[in-house]
Amino acid sequence: MGNVLVWAESRGGELRKVALEAVTAARRLAGATGGGEVHVVLAGPPGIAARSTDLATHGADVIFLVEAPELATFAREALAATIVGRARAGEYRAVLLGFSAQGRDLGPRIAARLDAPIATDVLDATPAGDSLVVTHPAYANKVLLSLAIAGPLAVISVRPGAIAAVESPTSARTEAIALAAAPAAVVTVTEVKEGAKGRPDLGDAPVIVAGGRGLKAAENFRIVEELADAFGNAAVGATRAVTDDGWRPHSDQIGQTGRQVSPQLYVAIGISGAIQHLAGMRASRTIVAINKDKEAPIFKVADYGIVGDVLEVVPALTLAVRQARASG
Ligand SMILES: Cc1cc2nc3c(=O)[nH]c(=O)nc-3n(C[C@H](O)[C@H](O)[C@H](O)COP(=O)(O)OP(=O)(O)OC[C@H]3O[C@@H](n4cnc5c(N)ncnc54)[C@H](O)[C@@H]3O)c2cc1C
Repeated sequence: MGNVLVWAESRGGELRKVALEAVTAARRLAGATGGGEVHVVLAGPPGIAARSTDLATHGADVIFLVEAPELATFAREALAATIVGRARAGEYRAVLLGFSAQGRDLGPRIAARLDAPIATDVLDATPAGDSLVVTHPAYANKVLLSLAIAGPLAVISVRPGAIAAVESPTSARTEAIALAAAPAAVVTVTEVKEGAKGRPDLGDAPVIVAGGRGLKAAENFRIVEELADAFGNAAVGATRAVTDDGWRPHSDQIGQTGRQVSPQLYVAIGISGAIQHLAGMRASRTIVAINKDKEAPIFKVADYGIVGDVLEVVPALTLAVRQARASG
């Protein structure tokens, strides 16, 4: 029987979508290892306890609650020490967290202190004998590797959006634990700047509308924003060509050196489909591409393609989405 420990990522007092995805992955893994329990560390500023309900709905058996004012920002050292302390206090088969910006930072810290192997950017994890087998994309998502992780304990970070959060209600028990004393911090987060107000984060959005150099000018990004507004739940992304030119902030960049996303729907507008861009978005559930060049590589990964001028096609698409949503 293997219990699984999860770090439930939150920001601004709200759970990130990846937290529920990690709990879902842990539920499956605990079940497959012979009926283990799912234990979750929920750490945040005072008031975060209110998020316990969502964790119980998705299958947490025990919630270790840490409320501390210093957790209003990402207190990486104290968080890592707290999760490591909890992992040492129980007999865990795995520690799961999201492969988000914060998860990329925490995962290796936790693994190093536990002297445990780590598998990052994982699409799923299953037990196989004494090992855990995880699926990990490589070569810009062109191949999927099956990695067998030996040893009694593994740290695994799951790719946001790869595992759909599934409800599996439990009557979770909550236990308050203390925030561990942080070792001298090498890096301290002093301020968190919010992205565009009113839009979901690229990692959480079910729909992403992304624009490339085919838009011709920064001001034409307006049509990308309008299509995102029409969907109502969309984030706006961009290629590196666009962020390098200063049309959009670097935080919008999707790709090998930007954000890795896997929304339900990705709309690529005036994007050629360079391998470095595909590395960040080809795992999206459904891809729609609009490009005037029918040979553009983006069409090779697209589920639906429209060959045409973005300045004509996108406003028409926006109108169609508005009409479809208005008619229910
Ligand atoms: C080490 C390294 C890392 C990189 N990391 C990233 C990364 O993380 N993310 C990233 O995106 N890129 C990255 N790049 C850059 C990448 O190689 C491409 O240069 C970039 O993705 C191209 O962006 P684009 O598609 O917007 O522009 P382009 O390649 O210039 O494509 C523009 C497209 O718009 C189409 N178009 C033009 N006008 C219209 C119109 N009126 N209507 C419709 N379509 C039109 C064209 O046919 C073309 O296909 C990286 C490069 C390197 C070397």
